[in-house]
Amino acid sequence: MRVLITGAAGFLGSHLAERFLRDGHQVVGLDNFVTGHPDNIAHLIGRPGFEFLQHNISTYTFVAGPVDGVLHFASPASPVDYLEHPIPTLKVGALGTHNALGLAKAKGARFFLASTSEVYGDPLIHPQTESYWGNVNPIGPRGVYDEAKRFAEAITMAYHRFHGVDTRIVRIFNTYGPRMRPRDGRVVSNFIVQALMEEPITIYGDGSQTRSFCYVDDEIDGIVRLFHGGDPDPVNIGNPDEYTVRQLADLVVELTGTRSTIVHRALPADDPRVRRPDITRARSLLGWEPHVAVREGLARTIEYFRSLRGSDRMAPKIRA
Ligand code: UDP
Repeated sequence: MRVLITGAAGFLGSHLAERFLRDGHQVVGLDNFVTGHPDNIAHLIGRPGFEFLQHNISTYTFVAGPVDGVLHFASPASPVDYLEHPIPTLKVGALGTHNALGLAKAKGARFFLASTSEVYGDPLIHPQTESYWGNVNPIGPRGVYDEAKRFAEAITMAYHRFHGVDTRIVRIFNTYGPRMRPRDGRVVSNFIVQALMEEPITIYGDGSQTRSFCYVDDEIDGIVRLFHGGDPDPVNIGNPDEYTVRQLADLVVELTGTRSTIVHRALPADDPRVRRPDITRARSLLGWEPHVAVREGLARTIEYFRSLRGSDRMAPKIRA
């Protein structure tokens, strides 16, 4: 197969590109480096079967030759990033998804949407099943991401129902691992980088809010299974192992052996109180479940961030 991956220089996009290449497929990677980084794909450049286009999927996109799959992974995806790029976030979820679907339709390709647990907002049912419609504040700071992804799901289903495009939708829950951007503002990257740099570890609020963390290899395995198998209805892919943010901070302190202290900062607006995927559907439809325990996954992620020490990517972000 020849597949197009948008956001190929991002955290998940780069792992996905690698996996498709390893499975013997051809990959056209596309990225405009708003939040992706060239380092993530440096090892793929020049490799047989890999092509790269620096391009913004939110504008008209032409790809020459046959395409069998379009996997739309481009988007700022950490709350700090989408606060910094609110309009590109809305555009890539809306216009970018429209362009990617148009391309899939023109090429007769399967379309795969990277959606998110954020479509559930601050959920009123726990754990979250795919049948839950969510509790999203459309005009809050996270609305730019949540509503763009909800629109993306809606237009994906419309292309499926109206144009007969073969589509998939994955709802990705918090995922972590090597190639996360060091200063992307997410909890796992923040805590590990802070621990390694011996900076204070910043818990937002009292740290009793929960998240469930999936190691990237497990997440990619679920995504690939859904791409090849599955059906058009959304599927949660995430690890149901749930932790409070406070527990995560303690674990990072223990695993890094840092001397960092823990400090508390204000809880961001609309920060979901709890999050945990119900993965019954992924289990029965795809025979998928995660295998990497959080301790093991964190240890591998810590190794990755250690390897970046000394690089300017680890330096604190300076705001203009
Ligand atoms: N968080 C935190 N300290 C940080 C970064 C995040 O306590 O330095 C909290 C954040 O408030 C949220 C959780 O960790 O409750 C997960 O945040 P993240 O930005 O990773 O993504 P989210 O799951 O909220 O989309």
